[in-house]
Amino acid sequence: MKEAYKKSAQEVMESLKVTSEGLNNEEVEKRRKEQGFNELNEGKKKNTIQVFGEQFKDLLVLILLGAAVISMFLGNEESALVIFSVVILNAILGTAQHIKAEKSLSSLKALSAPIARVLRNGEKVEIPSREVVVGDILYLEAGDYVSADGRIIENFSLQVNESSLTGESESVVKTEEVIDGDNVSIGDMKNMVFAGSFVTYGRAAAVVTNIGMDTEIGKVASLLENTKQKKTPLQISLDDFGKKLASIILIISALIFILNMYRGYEVIDSFMFAVALAVAAIPEALSSIVTIVLALGTQKMAKENAIIRKLQAVESLGSVSVICSDKTGTLTQNKMTAKKIYIDEKIMDIENLDLSNTMEKKLVLMSLLCSDAISGEDKEIGDPTEIALTNLGRKYNLREIDVREMYPRICEIPFDSDRKLMSTVHKIENQITMITKGALDVILERAVKICTSDGVRELTYKDKEEIKKVNENFSKKGLRVLAFAYRNLNENKEITLKDEEDLIFVGLISMIDPPREESQKAVAECISAGIKPIMITGDHKITASAIAKQIGILKNEDEAMEGYELDRLSDEELKEKVDKVSVYARVSPEHKIRIVRAWQEKGNVVAMTGDGVNDAPALKQADIGISMGITGTEVAKDAASMVLTDDNFATIVKAISNGRNIYNNIKNSIKFLLSGNTAGIMAVLYAALASLPNPFAAVHLLFINLLTDSLPAIALGLEPHKSSVMEGKPRNINKSILSKDFVYEIVVEGFLIAACTMIAFKLGLQSGNTNIASTMAFATLCMARLFHGFNCRSRESIFKIGIFSNKYAWIAFGIGTLFLNSVLLFEPLRGIIQVEKLTVNQYAAFYVLAFIPFTVIQLYKFFFVKTSEGRVHYNEVINANN
Ligand code: ATP
Repeated sequence: MKEAYKKSAQEVMESLKVTSEGLNNEEVEKRRKEQGFNELNEGKKKNTIQVFGEQFKDLLVLILLGAAVISMFLGNEESALVIFSVVILNAILGTAQHIKAEKSLSSLKALSAPIARVLRNGEKVEIPSREVVVGDILYLEAGDYVSADGRIIENFSLQVNESSLTGESESVVKTEEVIDGDNVSIGDMKNMVFAGSFVTYGRAAAVVTNIGMDTEIGKVASLLENTKQKKTPLQISLDDFGKKLASIILIISALIFILNMYRGYEVIDSFMFAVALAVAAIPEALSSIVTIVLALGTQKMAKENAIIRKLQAVESLGSVSVICSDKTGTLTQNKMTAKKIYIDEKIMDIENLDLSNTMEKKLVLMSLLCSDAISGEDKEIGDPTEIALTNLGRKYNLREIDVREMYPRICEIPFDSDRKLMSTVHKIENQITMITKGALDVILERAVKICTSDGVRELTYKDKEEIKKVNENFSKKGLRVLAFAYRNLNENKEITLKDEEDLIFVGLISMIDPPREESQKAVAECISAGIKPIMITGDHKITASAIAKQIGILKNEDEAMEGYELDRLSDEELKEKVDKVSVYARVSPEHKIRIVRAWQEKGNVVAMTGDGVNDAPALKQADIGISMGITGTEVAKDAASMVLTDDNFATIVKAISNGRNIYNNIKNSIKFLLSGNTAGIMAVLYAALASLPNPFAAVHLLFINLLTDSLPAIALGLEPHKSSVMEGKPRNINKSILSKDFVYEIVVEGFLIAACTMIAFKLGLQSGNTNIASTMAFATLCMARLFHGFNCRSRESIFKIGIFSNKYAWIAFGIGTLFLNSVLLFEPLRGIIQVEKLTVNQYAAFYVLAFIPFTVIQLYKFFFVKTSEGRVHYNEVINANN
């Protein structure tokens, strides 16, 4: 619809044929058929053939194809054919892996798809944004992304950030009034909302005028922002490593080629020797193994309530050393129940109220009017803090809906966690009255009078001290306190922030929000895993400290700090102090960024939770921004790299454990691939330098690298997760995966396999037939690498972690062994893979030799690797805390 800004809300509704009930299902279906879905054109997805084609862009594959062509010209067509077939088979495997990884990532994306709240059949419903049609009535509130363009029909102080369209970062104040004029710019269409912008303040209803590519953003952005997942740091460093290794190997291969020619070998033999070395060395499967393991890992995490939005997060999770968590809802249950009130200078239990007392009734009525929650018979809707109030009313037969009907709301300033206040205006007994509720400290700053049963009088210093004492008393019990005040207004006008002063204090309502059952255990687990948990909350310092103590975040030597104290510290001073503070109270979202930065400057990897629209910058600044799936705003979810579907702190700790395990599994896969390759390189180099014949045909190494090695590598990536990963410190994110120790292990294990392979080769040479020797070397190398798969499952011996605990390892081993034995036993295959028939003794000999590296490594692990010693179990930490 064009130029809706010129028409009144009523006219727009009429021309779009929408009633105040919204659209009905039938109409929605009809419109969807005409208009399609509310989505922007996504960049074209690659089809299977394109993905298959991409597999040939790999450096190794190009080298192989080159080798195949050259061998064909040199008259070795058989070799060429085998190389071609293996390369194609590898490309098929690569395509299948790519598609599987894509699938799991796109199902993940669907899980975190944006939603919209609309009116359909007279009822407010939540739907995926893509299902919005023209004519839908859209409800917007702070933190929502606007799903489509629309004309505002009901406005409550709506402010919208339209920077994605206009580049202007200041929020625009919206109105529902008609705007005159032609060619009005987007920034000036103040009665319209636009897709791609987000609500920073207030709320509104708008009728949708345009969707999908017809929206203003659809017109400018013909393609959706490139949604392709970026490579993770690990993938980048492995790609880089692979390229460097490939170039070095190419040089060495060329030298070996020249050396052999010089020794008088045939060109074809020298060439195949050089190709064998290149094939043995290049770790072609590395990067794709990382992708598939990361992708499968995210599926497991999604089942455990953590949805990963950025693949990089899985890797960084294992390095998290600080978790900054909200209190309400994340560490606590977010189920608030009113417990005690303070009114007329008296503290009372919620059970003992007497609503025939005017003061008590006044406080309860104020609490029902100045809140939006509804406590229905079977469902509660709204902010849990306010549900505690409406439930309190219902306990004394005061239904919020009746009270609100009796004294309708004229206007309001919604709650926001920066201001920590909410105000509503009503006409009560012919008097326009503003009711304000919020944090006590903020209300006391603005209150000048107090209302008691003797009437309204000046609020003295003594009164304030008394009220603060009561507040402290409530807070020490972990209760959240809301203060209530009011003010009479002279005229019926829109209120602004300036009106929230000269208040008359009435009383306090305190409520309990118990910690989640899992929080204490999860906090203890964090601590034993070398991760510092920190509570950041808008709540009062004493309330926050009481809860933090209960769950083990705040210990005696730690401190709690308030937002205003933080304001007084310079960044340098904060950095000095930051590791002693474990509770931040009365903070606003801007403080969160400073806390994250201070920890990051000290070299930490920080996870930070957030749910509000103002939390987005801090979520982006954190290494892992975590948003709440239930209470989180769309803006926070969009900024986060992980979304918790259950809003639970314990889920973060579980995700970290998963992150550590996934990283370990990837590391084990890499170790398996690289140590096997090292064995191949060592064997070929040794033969070249010792003037022995070439131990392998290129096909042999291709067979191992591309066929029998891929499956165990994936199986290692699927190794069951171990809870013991949370008993060590977080991994240093800057430390390369190829650490000295890791490379040392790769070389030693590779050497063991190479040595046995060479013994087999020499045994074979004794038969006088080089082909038999080569077959023995190939069979030993292949089998030893299959056995080695079990070595790489863990740093510990497999007898300790359970021989059968990874069924995939056995399946991979079984398939690999079947491949190898089929090739050795069946005549037609023997010809293709260039192996000779072995005698029973030779067969037995290669099995024994292949088993030796496995035995040596397992014995070493069994007797010398003691990872389980020195572990602190989290139960011990819990006991130590209590
Ligand atoms: P976090 O989720 O970060 O742990 P929180 O939920 O405790 O923080 P806020 O919701 O920002 O923090 O609340 C801060 C303070 O604002 C509370 O201590 C309370 O006094 C007051 N407050 C909370 N909710 C409301 C509300 N709906 N209306 C008025 N005041 C409120």
